[in-house]
Amino acid sequence: MDYQRKIAHHVASIPRSGIRDFFELVQGRDDVISLGVGEPDFVTPWHIREAAIYSLEKGQTSYTSNLGLLSLRKSISRYVENFFHVGYDPAREILVTVGVSEAIDIALRALLNPGDEVIFHEPCYVSYSPSIVMAHGVAVPVVTTQEEEFSLKPEKLAAAITPKSRVVFINFPTNPTGACASREDLEGIAKLAIEHDLIVMTDEIYSELRYDQEQPHVSIAALPGMKERTILLHGFSKAFAMTGFRLGYACAPQPIIEAMMKIHQYAMLCAPIMSQNAAIEALEHGQPSVVAMRDSYHERRDFLVKRLNEIGLSCHMPGGAFYVFPDVRATGLSSKEFAMRLLEEENVACVPGSAFGPSGEGFLRCCYATAFEDIRKATEKIECFVNRLR
Ligand code: PLP
Repeated sequence: MDYQRKIAHHVASIPRSGIRDFFELVQGRDDVISLGVGEPDFVTPWHIREAAIYSLEKGQTSYTSNLGLLSLRKSISRYVENFFHVGYDPAREILVTVGVSEAIDIALRALLNPGDEVIFHEPCYVSYSPSIVMAHGVAVPVVTTQEEEFSLKPEKLAAAITPKSRVVFINFPTNPTGACASREDLEGIAKLAIEHDLIVMTDEIYSELRYDQEQPHVSIAALPGMKERTILLHGFSKAFAMTGFRLGYACAPQPIIEAMMKIHQYAMLCAPIMSQNAAIEALEHGQPSVVAMRDSYHERRDFLVKRLNEIGLSCHMPGGAFYVFPDVRATGLSSKEFAMRLLEEENVACVPGSAFGPSGEGFLRCCYATAFEDIRKATEKIECFVNRLR
């Protein structure tokens, strides 16, 4: 059978994730030091795992409400109010999802009619452009540069807006660059969203991982006039080291949550109950663990950025997440050649910047959610590799 003809055109047109391609090469190799996977190296804190186990012990193995356990939504509401300074009604304005991944998918499917444009800043997380296409939208990337510290400048956003624009999709701190937007940039983005009547989707999955305490995280949802047009996406994977629990949430005005819920109830029904119980424990008692993990990432970030710059790979100091994004153009290699040869010759895995959109070309994503000793060894190996290229 000619299966290509059986697959929907818009799905066939989507490329496979560049990260996945690269990690298929890594698999099966021994002694690789990986700065590749965007996942905490910490195991989920014990008290959170215990809450999941206890949930099973008590025999809580059923479906929950489609929106998620009300007790969890109440915890989310309190947490979001404290942390983001914006209030959401747990009964109507919060939907618990299977990771932020699901929340992105159903938000886009709920909002877009075929041909609607979604503007996002690039380099960006690998799922954004495919998720837009799968929702029959048109992906409109706005290139951000190292000189702009990879923030989205309002004037660039303004230039990308057309009569078909429907959504602006932002992610600060950013995967893969670690970029953080200033309040001023967020205010400029908010002003444009209001002027052009756009919905803003904001993926704030790395918001707890901000390292410059004098510049605390600001959510665009909390800016004047923005709650009514913002979908705030957040989850437990990164700050609480809970990737395998597959839990996230969306906070938004009730009609948007209702539309997303319709898709969620048919596609997913609900998020797993044991993960939801664990998430309540994370929100209620997890802050000390979050702070300890953040402090550890902070130390690793400072070390890695300093070493990469010493090695001659120009690297801006990212304000958040757990990625650095050094410039490898001076070596004369493309980002893919650099990453492949680093893997072949030094057994160090980093992701080519081009996996995060064409504007990531010339850069490398290094994830420092890896043991400090491995980061130290990796930088020695990167130094040997770069010296050999000279
Ligand atoms: N959004 C961003 C920016 C990410 O980096 C990731 C995972 O790497 C996700 C969403 C997916 O998160 P989740 O595990 O909650 O599905």
